[in-house]
Amino acid sequence: MKAKRIDGKAISDTIKAEAQQQAQNLQRQGIVPCLAVVLVGEDAASQIYVRNKEKACALVGITSKMYTLPQDTTEQALLTLIAQLNTDNSVNGVLVQLPLPAHINEEKVILAVSPQKDVDCFHPYNVGLLHTDKKGFLPCTPAGVLELITRSGYEIAGKHCVVIGRSHNVGKPTAMLLLQHDATVTICHSKTKNLKEICKQADIIVSAVGKLHMVTADMVKAGAVVIDVGMNRDEHGKLCGDVDFDAVCEVAGAVSPVPGGVGLMTVAMLMQNCITAAKLQNGI
Ligand code: NAP
Repeated sequence: MKAKRIDGKAISDTIKAEAQQQAQNLQRQGIVPCLAVVLVGEDAASQIYVRNKEKACALVGITSKMYTLPQDTTEQALLTLIAQLNTDNSVNGVLVQLPLPAHINEEKVILAVSPQKDVDCFHPYNVGLLHTDKKGFLPCTPAGVLELITRSGYEIAGKHCVVIGRSHNVGKPTAMLLLQHDATVTICHSKTKNLKEICKQADIIVSAVGKLHMVTADMVKAGAVVIDVGMNRDEHGKLCGDVDFDAVCEVAGAVSPVPGGVGLMTVAMLMQNCITAAKLQNGI
C-alpha cells in the first residue's frame, strides 16, 4: 500500500486564508488584530519560528509587534514588559517564545500572560477550559493535528487514537482534543510497556516524542492515519519527524510529512487564535 501524503501546506494555506478573511471583516469594523511576540536571547530555532510567525501575520493582516530582548534580560524586566502588553489595548495576543534562558522561570512567565491574550494557550486558566470542554483558545500544535486529520477527510469519532508523548504543550492537549472529538484515546510515554502492540491497534497514531525513527512500519496497522509532530535532525542535519516515513507509507493509509505537516499547521492555528482574541476583546 502507498499511503496518502497529508498536505500540511495546502491545509495551512486554507486556514490562513480563512483567518485573512476574518481579519478583513474585523478591519471593516475598524479593528486591526495585533500580536506581540517576545523573544529573549538568540536561540537559532526560536529566531526561525518567530520569523515564520511574523510572515504569517503579514500575510493574514495581523499587525505583529516584535520585542527582541538580550539573553541577559532579567526575569523582572520580562515580567514588566508582559504586564505592559497585557494592559495595552492595541495588543490582542501576547506570545513569549519558549524556551527562555535558564535564569528565567518559564512557569512564572506563562502565568504572567493575561489569559485573554494567551494565544499559545499555555496559561493554566486556558488549559483548564480545554480540560473542562469549555470554549477558549485552542493549543496551536494540537489543534493543528486535529485540523490535519479532519480536513484530510478522516473521521475521529469512535476511532482508537494512540498519542505517543504526554508533554503539557503537545501530547496531553492533543489527547484531550481527540477525546473531545469522541475518539477512544490511549496516551503512551517513555514508561509505556508494549508500545508496538498498542500502536498496532490504532486507527490514528500521533507521535510527539522528538526521536528519529521512533514510529516504524511494524508499529502501524494497515490503513492507519499517522500524524508526525516530531522535529528532529538526522545525521546530515536534515529536518525529520519521528516517523520512519518511507517505510510507514508502505503500510499506513495516510501520513503527515516533516517538513510540510504539523509545523505549518501550528503557525496557521496561531493566526486563528489571534483573530479569536481580537474578536473576544471587542465583544464580537
Ligand atoms: P517533550 O516535552 O520532550 O515530550 C516528549 C514525550 O515523549 C514525553 O512525554 C516522553 O515521555 C515521550 N517519550 C520519550 N521517549 C519515548 C519512548 N521511547 N517511547 C514513548 N514515549 C517516549 O517534547 P514535546 O515538547 O512534547 O515535543 C515533542 C516533539 O514535537 C519534539 O520533536 C518537538 O520538537 C516537536 N514539536 C513540534 C511542534 C510543531 O509545531 N511541529 C510543536 C511542538 C513540538 P515521558 O513523559 O515519560 O518522559
